[in-house]
Amino acid sequence: MLKLAIYGKGGIGKSTTSANLSVALAEMGYKVMQIGCDPKADSTKNLTGGVKIASVLSITKDKRIHEISIEDVVHEGYKGVYCVEAGGPEPGIGCAGRGVISVLEFLTKLDVYNKLGIDIVLYDVLGDVVCGGFAVPLRAGYAELVYEVTSGEMMAMYAANNIAKGIKRFAERGGKVRLGGLICNERNAFLEKENVSMLADRLGSRVVKFVPRDNIVQESEMVGKTVLEFAPESVHADVYRQLARTILDNQTYSIPTPMDDQAFESMLNAAR
Ligand code: ADP
Ligand code: SF4
Ligand code: MG
Repeated sequence: MLKLAIYGKGGIGKSTTSANLSVALAEMGYKVMQIGCDPKADSTKNLTGGVKIASVLSITKDKRIHEISIEDVVHEGYKGVYCVEAGGPEPGIGCAGRGVISVLEFLTKLDVYNKLGIDIVLYDVLGDVVCGGFAVPLRAGYAELVYEVTSGEMMAMYAANNIAKGIKRFAERGGKVRLGGLICNERNAFLEKENVSMLADRLGSRVVKFVPRDNIVQESEMVGKTVLEFAPESVHADVYRQLARTILDNQTYSIPTPMDDQAFESMLNAAR
């Protein structure tokens, strides 16, 4: 089973990219499961007609663990993509990261991956803080190949550098986790392509795809669909298909070489 994780700053386009990627992989004939690991629990919304599915944490609150079945937590979305949302605690209470741990352990206990014959699992993880909690998919071996979504905006690149620090730490401790590359979800920022390419280079990695900013994404989202479902013939749908192909064919995974804050600032200054 191919174990992918999509990490990046909040609002950068992780869920949009993940959902379109999942459909693109499903179109190629793979059994895909997308697991939202963001307390927002909206990762898979556009795979299920714009309606949020119940999160695992909300279900475990109301039912005893042994009473919960795979059907309660896994929902089949567009093109047969299996959708799961970890969910999170009420804002201000508890640790969202711990929630992610318990959900991933629970899915393993239910043996969902084998029982459903999953070929590719894709974790969509919030990466603003690579705290112990949100690093769980990396630390515990759930996700092995990480793709970081970033734009050319400073804070998005800063988060990408931090996520690379987390990957490096776990890889050096003997974990299988590697960086597969950066996905530049364009925001039309100043010198965006140059800056994201430079960041990838400094991380010892590469940009696997530049995804243009396109209003078709919002148009699709407004009717609760991925671009691949709403506008399958569009140029933008093909961008996600190319991304899927590149990820499947990718043989160059690395232990990243993140920068300290000073080196990161210098990199940005040099770019101006
Ligand atoms: P995240 O999961 O990282 O928090 P989302 O995937 O929910 O971010 O995206 C945030 C917003 O950005 C969404 O409203 C989405 O429609 C928009 N968006 C994402 N990618 C693109 C793109 N390539 N072009 C246009 N809008 C985009
Ligand atoms: Fe929040 Fe992460 Fe700390 Fe948990 S480990 S309380 S998710 S910052
Ligand atoms: Mg999201």
